[in-house]
Amino acid sequence: MLIAGAGIVGASIAWHLAEAGLRVAVADATGPAAAASGASDGAVSVASKKPGVMARLATGSLLYTRALAERGLLAAAYAARPSYVFGAGEAEMDAIAALIAKLAALSGPVRVTADGGAGLLAGAGPGVERLVALEGEGHMPGHKAVRAYLAHPGITALWPARLGAFEADDTGVTIDLGGRALRVGVLVAALGVSTAEIFPGLPVLPRAGQLIVTDAGPVGALPGSLTAAAYLLAKTEGPGSGTLPPVVIDPLSTGQFLIGSSREDHADPTRVDFATIRRLLGRSTAAFPALAERRVIRAFAGIRAAVADGLPIVGPLPGNSRVILATGFEGDGICLSALIGREVAAMVRGASPATDWAADLSALAPTRFGAIRKERVA
Ligand SMILES: Cc1cc2nc3c(=O)[nH]c(=O)nc-3n(C[C@H](O)[C@H](O)[C@H](O)COP(=O)(O)OP(=O)(O)OC[C@H]3O[C@@H](n4cnc5c(N)ncnc54)[C@H](O)[C@@H]3O)c2cc1C
Repeated sequence: MLIAGAGIVGASIAWHLAEAGLRVAVADATGPAAAASGASDGAVSVASKKPGVMARLATGSLLYTRALAERGLLAAAYAARPSYVFGAGEAEMDAIAALIAKLAALSGPVRVTADGGAGLLAGAGPGVERLVALEGEGHMPGHKAVRAYLAHPGITALWPARLGAFEADDTGVTIDLGGRALRVGVLVAALGVSTAEIFPGLPVLPRAGQLIVTDAGPVGALPGSLTAAAYLLAKTEGPGSGTLPPVVIDPLSTGQFLIGSSREDHADPTRVDFATIRRLLGRSTAAFPALAERRVIRAFAGIRAAVADGLPIVGPLPGNSRVILATGFEGDGICLSALIGREVAAMVRGASPATDWAADLSALAPTRFGAIRKERVA
């Protein structure tokens, strides 16, 4: 079988298939982690998910990511750490109250350990009116996880190789892979924002985000991620829902900081602008003033694959179970990749989904869009 797309989702699916003893090839137009998975923050976070399907799937994926780290596979990629959510002003206070209620209702592995003011976190600044501390979440740079998954000896790497068009029938799928015709039993399309090129009928839209990397300061100055409640609002109510920048400050193991991120409706990964970077840095520094001593060494953009209804698209193409889609993870693909990899691999093998997740996974099925238009082999 062929997985098209060597981002974190395609890589996780490939690993789970290879681990089950199947022969699997992964093709990528550029190379591993070439798109969103290599240009993102890596929060493995339940707190930031919409209540309902996404929060439940994120909980399952967080637990499974931890298990894969414990067994060694993701040990060098995943790091557990506390997370802090801060806010100022009425809208962010409401978002924090909703977060606390959501986590209590989930009663999962992510718990509020403290709720108060800036005094809860050494180094928190005047931009922090209220702060909640959480335990149970972690961080996983996408490129590290992709490398770990693709190291499985049962995976054949094919890149650069671009999936063009395909024709599926009852016995398999004929694929145009950069001018080369290939016949496979199953095609899994994990193409991120490029999904719309192959499946123009799917409402997958680009949502760009700018990120900043600083130079290294003392390791451990900030013990975990510091996230503005505006980020929760941007995820639950859509981009442009608040006036405050939705910043996330993530301390890296090197002593550097990764600071993100904007949400913009375009697909240009080269577009980084001074005004946006300045807004993100302004709020970050007000929340954690020690950042003013750091220098920005890099700013870059990544493109999320957003879906019009806010849910990923996972499951067989209507009308042909030999083509399976796994896309549209917007700002949640790093977090969801472990569980989605395992469940899509089960779909490919014709196995039932893990019962805990069957209902939530069915909400992601492509059938919700009716018949899906696609490109055809010329
Ligand atoms: C700024 C930013 C911050 C983010 N922060 C977080 C976060 O904190 N936590 C979180 O969980 N998620 C986060 N995300 C989202 C996360 O990065 C994505 O959801 C995830 O990386 C998607 O992985 P993917 O494998 O679906 O897609 P991608 O990583 O985009 O991979 C798709 C792959 O398909 C390849 N491809 C495209 N077209 C073709 C073709 N025709 N043939 C063959 N190959 C092709 C591409 O080269 C690419 O390698 C963030 C994203 C951004 C941009």
